[in-house]
Amino acid sequence: MTNQDPSLAVKKDLVVTLDYKLLVDGEVIDSSEQDFPIQFLQGHGEIIPGLENELYGMKVGEHKQVVVPPSQGYGEYDPEAFAEIPRSEFPKDFPLEPEVEVQLRDEDGEVVDAFIESVDDKLVYLNLNHPLAGKELHFSVTVVELREPTPEELEHGHVHAPDGAELEDDEFDDEDDFDDEDDDDDDEFDDEDDFDDDDEDEADED
Ligand code: ZN
Repeated sequence: MTNQDPSLAVKKDLVVTLDYKLLVDGEVIDSSEQDFPIQFLQGHGEIIPGLENELYGMKVGEHKQVVVPPSQGYGEYDPEAFAEIPRSEFPKDFPLEPEVEVQLRDEDGEVVDAFIESVDDKLVYLNLNHPLAGKELHFSVTVVELREPTPEELEHGHVHAPDGAELEDDEFDDEDDFDDEDDDDDDEFDDEDDFDDDDEDEADED
């Protein structure tokens, strides 16, 4: 750890290194003891808002318990957020099994994570809810380090690797699985209507 200015406290545009433990329903489901402390640029939405907002003013070494309601975490559970996609639209080698994660694109081109709920002869049923949707999140956090961002980090709004390289979000690396299969045509997943509420499709037409 580098020398720290003892008066330094978490504020917007500082890089925060955070030790954390996440409990849901009384169970530890994620912890930086198993992985590594997370690092992010405060105030840029790199972590869920309910946690980020509670970190302001914390000093290095300071510990805090933070309870985050679903609305400030991974959202409320939406019983409508299910989709059916024909098996034929998946790459041939895609593992069509329950709980496998699938990346879709919504109408804005944003990547949406979904999980396979079940599969039958023709269709793959997807749950578009985040696995932690509807859950109250109990965080136990300690600020490990604070530092000024590099000009590049500040410009990009996210943390870079120590050598300045981009840190790709692993979860989004896999999206090529889908995009590449149909080459230049990824229309299948561009349109939320394709996998959203079938019932509302007609009504949505202009
Ligand atoms: Zn960057």
